[in-house]
Amino acid sequence: MLTRHLLKQASTCRHFLLNSKTSSPFLTKSILFSSSSSSPESQSPANTFVDDKVKDQYPTGTSISIDRSALYNLPEHSHEPTSDSELVKHLKGIIKFRGGPISVAEYMEEVLTNPKFGFYISRDVFGAEGDFITSPEVSQMFGEMVGVWAMCLWEQMGRPKQVNLVELGPGRGTLMADLLRSASKFKSFTESLHVHMVECSPTLQKLQHHNLKCFDEDDNSDGVEKRTVSMLAGTPVSWHALLEQVPSGMPSIIIAHEFYDALPVHQFQRASRGWCEKMVDVSEDSMFRFVLSPQPTPATLYLMRRCKWAAPEEIEKLGQIEVCPKAMDLTRTIADRISCDGGGALIIDYGLNGVVSDSLQAIRKHKFINILDNPGSADLSAYVDFASIRHSAEEVSEDISVHGPMTQSQFLGALGINFRVEALLQNCTDEQADSLRTGYWRLVGEGEAPFWEGPDEQVPIGMGTRYLAMAIVNKKQGVPVPFQ
Ligand code: SAH
Repeated sequence: MLTRHLLKQASTCRHFLLNSKTSSPFLTKSILFSSSSSSPESQSPANTFVDDKVKDQYPTGTSISIDRSALYNLPEHSHEPTSDSELVKHLKGIIKFRGGPISVAEYMEEVLTNPKFGFYISRDVFGAEGDFITSPEVSQMFGEMVGVWAMCLWEQMGRPKQVNLVELGPGRGTLMADLLRSASKFKSFTESLHVHMVECSPTLQKLQHHNLKCFDEDDNSDGVEKRTVSMLAGTPVSWHALLEQVPSGMPSIIIAHEFYDALPVHQFQRASRGWCEKMVDVSEDSMFRFVLSPQPTPATLYLMRRCKWAAPEEIEKLGQIEVCPKAMDLTRTIADRISCDGGGALIIDYGLNGVVSDSLQAIRKHKFINILDNPGSADLSAYVDFASIRHSAEEVSEDISVHGPMTQSQFLGALGINFRVEALLQNCTDEQADSLRTGYWRLVGEGEAPFWEGPDEQVPIGMGTRYLAMAIVNKKQGVPVPFQ
């Protein structure tokens, strides 16, 4: 009922993204994945090693052991050593002074979030002008539907007077802006909120401040921290680098959209002597290259934990496995907070409900590139292992429950996106209507839009089944909408 009521509200639009967004050929990360292969296992054949030297000496199996693999050089990888970027110099410096290769996870973390040179740190990487596009940028309806979910959860929580509304990795702040704008009529909800943006990039923090129409209140009181308020719904907003910095002691509603896929993954490869971690090294001609770890690495513990959660048949068929310790640890932090303080979390991302094999990809200007090519100039992201999120959360406490994953299409459909698009269509121009239909398709459709009459290369491709939604909630609230 509440869902229906919310959807009938204001048929006003944020902006119809007429120019380049919904009707553009610019691609989401999951679509880019799909365009290269149908399964993550087959995504990066170029990254596969064959350890000929020791192949016959040891039985294959899932045991963890040492391997000195043949080295691997990427065929298309090229950049002049003389034109090394600051990040490349930094990475080579770490490898040189450490006296050996670094894990793929450390490489990924430096590339994305190095405080000086990281991909996300100093620029806006989203949209047509950027490197990739995300659902909130595709259509205002995405943030609105997440807002419906948050309000329903707040109802189930018994309408608490004070709630942390936390977003992890908010990008441009578009999702939160659409959520607050659409929720602004529901005063008792918005008055309960304190918005917390967990964002590592100072540039994106500024953009979020701008897009949330934030106002910094004058600091006229002694010893009291200056407040920042979003004019979209009159809610206070704070920024943090880590979830742990968000004040505890009150319930939280946590949203993570395309955040988990940016967390660094360790890659393991099955070699003759067992699972070995794939590492990044620098060759004699000063190029980055992959090597296998000559000895067991600390991340092996996480590999063992991940394998314990899987059926032996699931592991046996895989030649490579990705594990994301940061995702497991973050999930524990989320589950712990929800278990103590109440509330829930919504995770939407592309991924699998099982072990991920080899999905790490680099995307620059809406195109795939080699992972090792000019690091810092491209986004790196990996499939999210939703099964690992479930297990990590369930291990924390008996007081939480995990729901889903369900497809984005099911999630948005059950929340009533069809009613919302109809309401918006009643009050728009023909051009806006085209844009709305295209955006709608991209959010909930599967494959190419059947109604498309524009240029073939711009056909909207649905993200509805490639993206999955999962919720972690405190059991006292019951099963969250729409996972019942
Ligand atoms: N949710 C947004 C943006 C997704 S991109 C959207 O859907 O459009 C990932 C976001 O997470 C960016 O804002 C990036 O700066 C942020 N981010 C990545 N790693 C992070 C980390 N370790 N800590 C905090 N923020 C991070």
